Amino acid sequence: MGSPTLDAVNQALHDVEDPIFRKRLGELGTLLDARIENGRVWAKVRLSSPSEEARQTISRRIEAALEPLGVEFVELEIEVNVPTREATSTDPIPDVRNVVLVMSGKGGVGKSTVATNLALALRRLGTRVGLLDADIYGPSLPTMLGIEGQPTSKDGKRIQPLQRFGIKLMSIGFLLEDPKQAIVWRGPMLHGALQQFVTDVDWGGLDYLIIDSPPGTGDVALTLAQKLRITGAIIVTTPQEVALQDVYKSVSMCQKLNVPILGVVENMSHFVDSAGVKHELFGSGGGHKIAEFAEAPLFGQVPIDSLVREWGDQGTPIVQAAPASAAGQAFAAVADALAERIAKEHFERGGGETAPEGEGPKRLRILR
Ligand code: ADP
Repeated sequence: MGSPTLDAVNQALHDVEDPIFRKRLGELGTLLDARIENGRVWAKVRLSSPSEEARQTISRRIEAALEPLGVEFVELEIEVNVPTREATSTDPIPDVRNVVLVMSGKGGVGKSTVATNLALALRRLGTRVGLLDADIYGPSLPTMLGIEGQPTSKDGKRIQPLQRFGIKLMSIGFLLEDPKQAIVWRGPMLHGALQQFVTDVDWGGLDYLIIDSPPGTGDVALTLAQKLRITGAIIVTTPQEVALQDVYKSVSMCQKLNVPILGVVENMSHFVDSAGVKHELFGSGGGHKIAEFAEAPLFGQVPIDSLVREWGDQGTPIVQAAPASAAGQAFAAVADALAERIAKEHFERGGGETAPEGEGPKRLRILR
């Protein structure tokens, strides 16, 4: 077979369906470039989700579309442009594209663990991520990320967040000499601290700001919703029945504040023993029930694994320390699902491909 013309290649690529939007790249305008060089096809496409799933799907589809043309080598450059929430003229952090609250009905379900691992998994997909620890009852994120020290200010006005694993972190814990002191905080103090965290911290450009909210209340959602448009919330739960009542309250609170529930994560879902047998220690079905109640997808079920706690205590979350472990993969799947949900929500609200060209992550793939 002779080498294909650029026209034929372009046509085939235009007809490839986007993995998130179920529309053709040609319709979306997300085929950014295509060339034939020395018998190789080079193409550049834009995706709205950094998820591994989306990258693999688009790569497979492009390969399949070009194969009948006799194309032997394809180099694919994927530009990820994470969609952005609507920022009003008074938005204190307009360069933060998405603000995601991680909530739970009660403490101890692994909310902070989920927030940290989710943030890291999003970072590992190449996006720009910030993590705000607003859990006054137990600001544990500095420990989980192995961060010590105090944030500083270069100009005396804006606070520089601390960084680890490429994530920017601010924590209520940094403001307290004794983290236990936080327990006596009341609503107005949290309100004031949160205001400072969003207006005075130099977050810079971020694709996702993940906020670890205190359990059981909607205080963080309430304060933030007055200042800026929140992309949505993630509800963390465990499978057992008793935990559920509190979670329903969080869901209702979000609904009242018009904060969309993006998805639900069931943590400590089950335990797999050394023989590979799955045990549902805490019953089952909690995640599904909450997801149904919230009319949101179940993003994932994270198994109980003592490595999650051990690595968390050592300051390297499991997604970073052991990404291939079952729990590590479960957290990565949650990050994929969240990224896709945000892209889809944006698209369905009519945002389409209107976001500005991303300075976001680029990655080259050699397909054939
Ligand atoms: P919360 O923020 O809801 O209070 P944490 O994230 O602090 O909960 O988690 C509570 C404890 O449970 C921590 O010691 C953490 O390491 C542990 N943990 C969380 N998720 C898991 C899991 N999937 N497997 C094993 N231990 C976990």
